[in-house]
Amino acid sequence: MTEPLVERMRGFGTTIFAEMSALAARTGAINLGQGFPDTDGPPAMLEAAVAAIMGGGNQYPPGPGLPELRAAVAAQKRERYGLDYDPDGEVYVTVGATEGIAAAVLALAGPGDEVIAFEPTYDSYAATVALAGAALRPVLLRPDGGRFTFDPAELRAAVTPRTRLILVNSPHNPCGTVFTRAELAEIAAVCRDHDLVAVTDEVYEYLTFDGAEHVPLATLPGMRERTVAVSSVGKTFSVTGWKTGWVTGPERHVRAVQTVKQFLTYATGGPWQHAAAHGLRRELAWVEDLRASLERKRDRLVGGLEAAGFTVHRPQGTYFVQADIRPLGYTDGVDLARALPEKAGVVAVPTQVFYQRPADGAHFVRFAFCKRDDVIDEAVERLTRLR
Ligand SMILES: *Cc1c(COP(=O)(O)O)cnc(C)c1O
Repeated sequence: MTEPLVERMRGFGTTIFAEMSALAARTGAINLGQGFPDTDGPPAMLEAAVAAIMGGGNQYPPGPGLPELRAAVAAQKRERYGLDYDPDGEVYVTVGATEGIAAAVLALAGPGDEVIAFEPTYDSYAATVALAGAALRPVLLRPDGGRFTFDPAELRAAVTPRTRLILVNSPHNPCGTVFTRAELAEIAAVCRDHDLVAVTDEVYEYLTFDGAEHVPLATLPGMRERTVAVSSVGKTFSVTGWKTGWVTGPERHVRAVQTVKQFLTYATGGPWQHAAAHGLRRELAWVEDLRASLERKRDRLVGGLEAAGFTVHRPQGTYFVQADIRPLGYTDGVDLARALPEKAGVVAVPTQVFYQRPADGAHFVRFAFCKRDDVIDEAVERLTRLR
């Protein structure tokens, strides 16, 4: 039989998360691989979803999203970042950030086009770019001064006449980098000079540490008119299963995203949207508690990984630590990740799968710290046996 999968999607078989989570289930190891919290979101927000279901909000919502959620998103952008978006035409609700990114890439890049992204990339980027028939041009993030960053000259060199888009994820999964204004200014200058559109993945916008400030790229000069920003409730409110997000941007670009999104899923689940509007308006104090608790969990895991012998660059945001395995005598993250459940009873994700050339990230594995303190402590305790 011929291979049924279209050629451009071969090589994107089963995600590493599925393999590692199955390994965790089979071995009973602690799963610090996949990034989902093991505690629930704000109770009143969960109640708002229940109330929406019991109150009859169960038929198709409007394609662009419930007006109350679009208004809440516009208010959040204005109050937090000073960005003005018209809830009718410049805000569009999507099935999580994943669909927002996919619809934006599919709408704005096609066969023969190139898309720049900072590597390691979130795992959906490469597949989505392939789905669009475009080519991914990676720019590496490397450790420098205790955090991962890029070389502006490499960013400029990645631009070709075919470049259409740049994907910017900050706070960055898995490196934990929160791009500074200076880094964003480099990216903005490249976008302006080459007339590129930026698609920004801001799902960790609230989850930053040590006073690091999340600055939306759209707030930089000349960028609002060329930035499609993507956010979602999953990480901000610890409801990763809700798959409810939104894009904001200039009307022309949002209309382009709409053209694709309406034929992927048409609309996004109504009860979640109702609850998301509640979250954005009423639960930001809860989010601040989550942020502070994640900062402590970050310290707990980073300290433990250092004690276990890994080299770790302290993340400034997100749920994740990218750990260098070479001090422990390992060179290949996939080998270590496959052996780790047996050796130590812990599951991690080898981040080389997030690179075009696996060799660039062979020596890193990613651990998640969005877990209960006792789970982190037990994992750390087990990892110290690796030495
Ligand atoms: C979790 C995550 C997403 C996906 O968000 P959903 O709203 O669940 O689709 C997108 N980008 C990054 C960087 C993530 O970590």
